[in-house]
Amino acid sequence: MDISLIHINIMPYHASSLPLVKLVNNGKVCAPRIRNLLGDREASITPKQTHPTSLRFSWRISSSFSSSATESRPIMEDEMKKMERFDSDSAASLLKELRGTFASGKTKSYEWRVQQLKNMIKMIDDNERAIMEALQQDLAKPRFESFVSEISLTKAACNHALKELKHWMKPEKAKTAITTFPSSAEIVSEPFGIVLIISAWNYPFLLSLDPVVGAIAAGNSVVLKPSEISPATSSLLAKLLEDYLDSSAVRVVEGAVAETTALLEQKWDKILYTGNGKVGRIVMAAAAKHLTPVILELGGKSPVVVDSNVNLKVSARRIAAGKWGCNNGQACIAPDYIITTKAYAPTLIDGLKNILEEFFGKDPLESKDLSRIVNSNHFSRLAKLLDEDKVSGKIVHGGQRDETRLMIAPTILLDVPEDSLIMNEEIFGPLLPIITVDKVEDSFDIIKSRSKPLAAYLFTSSKKLEKEFVENISAGGMLINDTVVHLTNPSLPFGGVGESGIGSYHGKFSFDAFSHKKAVLYRSLYGDAPVRYPPYTPGKLRILRAILDGSIIGAILALIGFGKKKLE
Ligand code: NAD
Repeated sequence: MDISLIHINIMPYHASSLPLVKLVNNGKVCAPRIRNLLGDREASITPKQTHPTSLRFSWRISSSFSSSATESRPIMEDEMKKMERFDSDSAASLLKELRGTFASGKTKSYEWRVQQLKNMIKMIDDNERAIMEALQQDLAKPRFESFVSEISLTKAACNHALKELKHWMKPEKAKTAITTFPSSAEIVSEPFGIVLIISAWNYPFLLSLDPVVGAIAAGNSVVLKPSEISPATSSLLAKLLEDYLDSSAVRVVEGAVAETTALLEQKWDKILYTGNGKVGRIVMAAAAKHLTPVILELGGKSPVVVDSNVNLKVSARRIAAGKWGCNNGQACIAPDYIITTKAYAPTLIDGLKNILEEFFGKDPLESKDLSRIVNSNHFSRLAKLLDEDKVSGKIVHGGQRDETRLMIAPTILLDVPEDSLIMNEEIFGPLLPIITVDKVEDSFDIIKSRSKPLAAYLFTSSKKLEKEFVENISAGGMLINDTVVHLTNPSLPFGGVGESGIGSYHGKFSFDAFSHKKAVLYRSLYGDAPVRYPPYTPGKLRILRAILDGSIIGAILALIGFGKKKLE
């Protein structure tokens, strides 16, 4: 087999990005997306090793192809510049620059915020095709999904912020207390300063820009670090934000662990991280060193409880859309597992099978409407969940996979053991186990025995069950009789609880997430009562006691010399 290099994709600041290669067998391209077979650590690129003006790329395609190849070509000066490592010093000087911009007050003005949001909308409109192509490269994300769940949601966030910003920025009147009478009070939203946003690969466009919208709306300077696991979108974001937004205040740093570590060493005013809980802990520990507040948008196992009294077709369709129609299950709020009754499980499985065939045809691996698995590491992770001895025999639908194309078909499993891997880690892929119980109410104990999920779903026509579910189950968010779409409502906060995250954003919650709520009390210099000042006397104490007890009559009595002597 002969391997040829068709393009070299160098991410700014990130010399270890992957080469784009294609596999050619007898002159025929046999795996055009071979780049995706390379786990990031399987490809090694060694620039500057042989000659200062030439790049020598070498890589090994390890998993199923054991070949290697090298290619040299002249290096351009600007490429060399881009490949300089982004280290702690680079991070410090970036922050210094952004602090200067923030200190100038530029980002605080309403006009600046509005202009950036408008520019972002223009950026999206001008580049819709490029965005879809990047998502296609990174995840083979269907254009429909790219439009609905990445492009339009990001635009909607900008439009919503533009519409509401004036109102959000207005100080909020607060009640006053008798202790400060006369006075007025308000809550003033002020930007934190310089914020860091670290995003994940599965919705690489939306998850990068949605928080940026909030940070800009709140008047901050921002550094965005997109995920290296979706390099095409990462590079595109770096280019587009530089072209369309004010780069004295909004920057993108591309890279992986080393670059993120360099960023995390700095003192930020707020950090929003999207990703897994293990790295969430690293982010929080780094932030703690500087007392930086964090928002952690994490994941978890989101359950779907299905009662037997539901409309089967609608329920199956909505479960399937939330699972396989969202990046083929690679979504933080995708249904992770179903709980239903033993009696209803066969009906539900039939319903899901029919819908799956309607959605993706008889051979889902050939469907253009299913995303592929992001890379070979995640493919192997999912294969391991499926291949575990106690699980592999439980497949009741699907199970097909094609490693060369990183495709896994929608797969349903029935009654996998509680102690299996698939029931103990977030699946984040197209596998959907079904757990059965005697009574639907028994599902509550199963959910409560686990970490609090990011989302919990219930399909039922019983108002009683619905009420009990809302009252008894703790989750980041909850949706009755549908999946996933609660995230499109900007009036609802989006975030986790416990293991599924800290803090929330979306809509006004994004503005609040990136604003410090400053308490401001206004008093005048007239009407100064001596009662609070020394020398402290029993009479003053009686007056204060009455005031603090909320007794106006007591205060008046004390003022004119009456009232109980409690402490003198
Ligand atoms: P990922 O691999 O893209 O990592 C996320 C970010 O962390 C990246 O920018 C990456 O560069 C950085 N990172 C990785 N290792 C690091 C380290 N050691 N130190 C510092 N930074 C590091 O994404 P992932 O973690 O695979 O994302 C999937 C997880 O994210 C799932 O658990 C999913 O549920 C969750 N998720 C949550 C949301 C949400 O909104 N709550 C959205 C999407 C994904």
